[in-house]
Amino acid sequence: MGLIVQKFGGTSVKDKERVFNAARTITAAYESGTDIVVAVSAQGKTTDELIEKAAQINPKPSKREMDVLLSAGEQISSALLAIAIEQLGFPVVSLTGWQAGFVTRSNHGAARIKRIETARIKNELDKRNIVIVAGFQGINRFGDITTFGRGGSDTTAVALAAALKAKSCQIYTDVDGVYTADPRIVKNARKLDEITFDEMLELAALGAQVLHNRSVEMAKKYNITLEVVSSLESKPGTKVKEVVSMEKMLIRGAAKDDNVVRLSLIGLPDMPGIAFKIFSLLAGKHINVDIILQSVGRDGTKDISFTVPVDQKDIAVEALKEALPSLGAQTIDIDDNVCKVSIVGAGMQSNPGVAARMFEALYDENINIKMISTSEIKISVLIEAKDGTAALNAVHDAFIN
Ligand code: ASP
Ligand code: MG
Repeated sequence: MGLIVQKFGGTSVKDKERVFNAARTITAAYESGTDIVVAVSAQGKTTDELIEKAAQINPKPSKREMDVLLSAGEQISSALLAIAIEQLGFPVVSLTGWQAGFVTRSNHGAARIKRIETARIKNELDKRNIVIVAGFQGINRFGDITTFGRGGSDTTAVALAAALKAKSCQIYTDVDGVYTADPRIVKNARKLDEITFDEMLELAALGAQVLHNRSVEMAKKYNITLEVVSSLESKPGTKVKEVVSMEKMLIRGAAKDDNVVRLSLIGLPDMPGIAFKIFSLLAGKHINVDIILQSVGRDGTKDISFTVPVDQKDIAVEALKEALPSLGAQTIDIDDNVCKVSIVGAGMQSNPGVAARMFEALYDENINIKMISTSEIKISVLIEAKDGTAALNAVHDAFIN
């Protein structure tokens, strides 16, 4: 009959009603005859509360102990969900990450999954048990509990689907799918029926936080179609998959990122090796550089501008200031007052004129573009922070509806 993996997020199990709601969704699928494996997040704000509790005791707790603490959140919700399923009269077993066979690398707090030893889960499925797995955790080669990083229960679900060759992986959450833009900012945003893995990865990187990025990377690698569905109402959600056929859209979504700063090095010598020096210096400090712009050389000098995430600004500026003399630059200019607006869509690869239409939409709103960058499926502009909401709406509406 095949096997389905379902994942329930924290809001979908936050209280007794929601736990029973999830339990009924699970048992309805079980009754249709399929095997069911469930990954579950900690209830509601449990993870945040546990982090806060630890901070009150020790501002710098070890990562090992934090993993022991945080993994407990998912152990509680998995047990409660199993207890609800028992109450509904179905056979069920809850398993911690390590009982379920999740073997990870050793780094606490951001551990990657090495493999899943599926014998225990398969044994439970053979007994026709519903299997509930505590999300976002495993065990490393030292026998210590590890966690996958915030939002990591999605990755538990996708890893289970890959290891058990599930026929589908359903992500139950408190939103009813993936939208063309954040509906809180863009009035005309609408729900997508489908989106490709690559588009989803771009949008997630731009701050659309429906799915954990690593879960989408893993789904792409093993070609597992994900269905993002509401746990609150029963209606079709969004399918995240390799190729999208149903809907012919040039642009799949638009997003705004306020978390950027522009840095410019002014008056650099116009000669070979300068860009190399700057960006290898930044790479050495693990700084993620995004949009890069170099001016045309004039009178033997040129300027190079680029963006970095806000939280990496101080490290970047410090490193660059120190290097100013050796780079031969005159000054460094910092612009905090910017945001990045992007459109994403696999359809733009084969359609010229997408960039022009985006820039026209910004021109119509009298918004000035400071920097531009493009990739095969994304165009980003850097603009003034105050224009962000208007720009997002304008570019969204130019392509969607
Ligand atoms: N409970 C963890 C978190 O809040 C993992 C998850 O929910 O996916 O980040
Ligand atoms: Mg999540």
